[in-house]
Amino acid sequence: MPQKVLVTGAAGFIGSHLCESLLARSFGVVGVDCFTSNYDVRIKREHVRHLQESKDFSLVEASLNDVDLDGLLADVDCIFHLAAQPGVRQSWHERFDDYVDCNIRATHKLCESARKQDIRRFVFASSSSVYGNTAQLPMSELHPTHPVSPYGVTKLCSEDLCLLFSRNFGLPVVALRFFTVFGPRQRPDMAFHRFIKSALEGRSISVFGTGAQTRDFTFVSDVVDAILLAMDYSGSESIFNIGGGKRITLNSALDLLAEVLPHEVDVRYEEPAIGDVTHTYADIGLARRELGYSPQTSIDEGLAREVEWVQTLRKRLKSYYREGF
Ligand code: NAD
Repeated sequence: MPQKVLVTGAAGFIGSHLCESLLARSFGVVGVDCFTSNYDVRIKREHVRHLQESKDFSLVEASLNDVDLDGLLADVDCIFHLAAQPGVRQSWHERFDDYVDCNIRATHKLCESARKQDIRRFVFASSSSVYGNTAQLPMSELHPTHPVSPYGVTKLCSEDLCLLFSRNFGLPVVALRFFTVFGPRQRPDMAFHRFIKSALEGRSISVFGTGAQTRDFTFVSDVVDAILLAMDYSGSESIFNIGGGKRITLNSALDLLAEVLPHEVDVRYEEPAIGDVTHTYADIGLARRELGYSPQTSIDEGLAREVEWVQTLRKRLKSYYREGF
């Protein structure tokens, strides 16, 4: 019998890559996902289609807030909690309710159930958004957390809930703070996916702000490696930054993107988005030392892979793209 693990958010961008890697390592994977409408659910269906061909994968289509978690966790060895309502810009105003439900309430319910089971490792997908704007770069895990978006507040709260259950009930939590993840299957609301889609459709690319903001971009397979390393981690640290190892301006990333796109790119600058931080740059020293984490994929290589994937997705989901593309 393969060892059984649970992946929440299995149909999402990062979750589907993680499931793939776990299956390749002969785990039995139970994926939970309720196919929220934060983006076109046909894309999420595409993410899990090939996973469902494996006899070692089962998909539970339900919200963490409704499903019988005690039953689901009964013989599970590790939990990878990636389900969430992501996205900074959308998290203001009435949409905040979704963030409370999917990030805070769902995490609380999962922790309540997990603490009653014999779980070897609970990995929580946290975010660089917990830091907010920082004076000091790169930011280490000890940096104060002052999120600047409602999304960041809910991720910090979820992370705190996991750590609270760790302190009080011994839930073996590791929280990984991901820095802007990119690559194949990136969410359509994220910058590179938006840029690539617009450029391939012959439209201009719209950038929020001047493009001088900097980001530490992390390729998705490096994030998956970090999650797998966290699964087997036996040390005492519980929070790790997971970044790509360097930062570049959005404008430099656009220059790199232009090199791998088949057409000219026309860029239009818009008002900065409220809640977007100015700079992110992860100090990944702790993850290197404790987990043995070492990001492998450069931004140019990762961007080429993402462009290739958007082109493949277009063949499968024609109506998702503008006519003529
Ligand atoms: P995603 O939206 O592609 O995946 C999240 C999945 O969770 C979705 O498929 C959604 O349907 C599912 N989901 C949401 N609420 C649920 C619920 N209550 N019950 C069951 N399923 C539910 O997002 P992603 O970019 O893959 O992000 C995965 C995780 O990584 C999230 O926790 C996110 O906060 C975190 N993260 C992502 C990034 C990034 O750059 N993508 C950066 C930092 C942190």
